[in-house]
Amino acid sequence: MPELPEVETVKETLKNFIIGRSIKEVILKYDKIIKYPKVDEFVLKIINQTFTDIRRYGKYLLFDLDDFTMVSHLRMEGKYYIRNSLQEITKHDHIIFKLDNGKYLSYHDVRKFGTMELVDRHLEKSLKSISVLGVEVNSTEFNVSYLYPLIKKSNRPIKSIMLDQHIVTGLGNIYVDETLYMAKIHPRTLGKDIVYYQVEKLIKSAKEIIRKAISLGGTTIRTYQSSLGVDGRFQNELNVHTLTGQKCKDCDDTIVKTRVGGRGTYFCPTCQREDTVLIVGITGSISSGKSMVASLFRDNNITVIDSDKIYKKLLKTDKIMYNELISEFGNTIIKNNMIDRSSLGNIVFNDYNKRKKLNEITHPHIMNELRKSINEAKMNSEKLVVLDIPLLIEANLQYFVDIILLVYVNKTKQIERLMNRDNINEQIAKSKIKTQIDLESKRKLSDIIIDNNGTKEETAKQFMEIYDRLRSDGIVN
Ligand SMILES: [Zn+2]
Repeated sequence: MPELPEVETVKETLKNFIIGRSIKEVILKYDKIIKYPKVDEFVLKIINQTFTDIRRYGKYLLFDLDDFTMVSHLRMEGKYYIRNSLQEITKHDHIIFKLDNGKYLSYHDVRKFGTMELVDRHLEKSLKSISVLGVEVNSTEFNVSYLYPLIKKSNRPIKSIMLDQHIVTGLGNIYVDETLYMAKIHPRTLGKDIVYYQVEKLIKSAKEIIRKAISLGGTTIRTYQSSLGVDGRFQNELNVHTLTGQKCKDCDDTIVKTRVGGRGTYFCPTCQREDTVLIVGITGSISSGKSMVASLFRDNNITVIDSDKIYKKLLKTDKIMYNELISEFGNTIIKNNMIDRSSLGNIVFNDYNKRKKLNEITHPHIMNELRKSINEAKMNSEKLVVLDIPLLIEANLQYFVDIILLVYVNKTKQIERLMNRDNINEQIAKSKIKTQIDLESKRKLSDIIIDNNGTKEETAKQFMEIYDRLRSDGIVN
């Protein structure tokens, strides 16, 4: 079934062929496609009209003529072809418009589900079918103040809400699956359980996916192939839809298929957890003020799990990890019968491959401990857990959290604070920062940003705004 990007492609392609052309004759092979007005009146009105523009609303094509707008819905299989002669007309061409250049604009529909309606120019909203549609996914009206209340009052799965054309028009099955994957939300999560920051993520993801799909001409999979020789290329960008059994690009788990609200639904069970606890990952950079924000959560009785502490503890206590590290990095990392963190740090500091090896050894152990702590919080019926993971993004651990909170400072401030904190000069401070992904790139990957360039009070105020949002979502007390 053609979705918004495919219809957009049809629209843009057709423009080249029919704008400025007038209709000289209408040949009817199966006139039930015409829904309004009566067939005779439709033909009478449209003869001698010239195409001035083609627009789109959701999945509807709107052909503007001198005095009228023809509203066309392709449904399952509808396509427009330009035929050079009547000999090219096939048995599935149902409504054929003869143009003043001798060519034919032909509506082709194997399943005959498509519809055509003719209204006065630009009055498409007088049709019930259009007036009941929600806002368009790629319009500015599709924003969090519109969507959040609608989602929050709903007991339906988020997948069904996002597919509901009365709420948002232009998202079909393919793009909803991809949107939920990008927003890391399980398709069966009920609307009322989704939090404000996830709604923000949903909107951002949907818009990004639709923008990309439009730019690639839509998706050509077995269910729909555009006419006029234009094939979409978005099928190469799919992350979950139709990819049952393949590995997830973010976490290595396997994509599965299920049914939600009667629709085939694809998702990654690890990236899109079906869970009762929301996991917020705090990240930042050296001396961006991450631990200060973490302690604000702690002060409000939120469980904060510190991956650095877990790492330190594991270095002391985990025999398996101990042995793995010694066999990789040698005995020089031992001091007083324990692994010396700074010796280990020195070895990997300027060596990407060694750092990678270190991560490969330590991460599975750290993740295990993180999972244990999260489960403990769940047992205590906590609904929010904060993970303090300094290298969340560097280590590609985004899949582990639902929402990324970045504590941001600009570079000048960061260097200044680091010099003060560690009593070092500017050059050393700069070299310490160099090994991390810069904060500007992290900004793009984050869902909530706390700007920590100002005073402590200013940071605390931003924290309270976030806390209040989570409270109205029922996540914290
Ligand atoms: Zn995944």
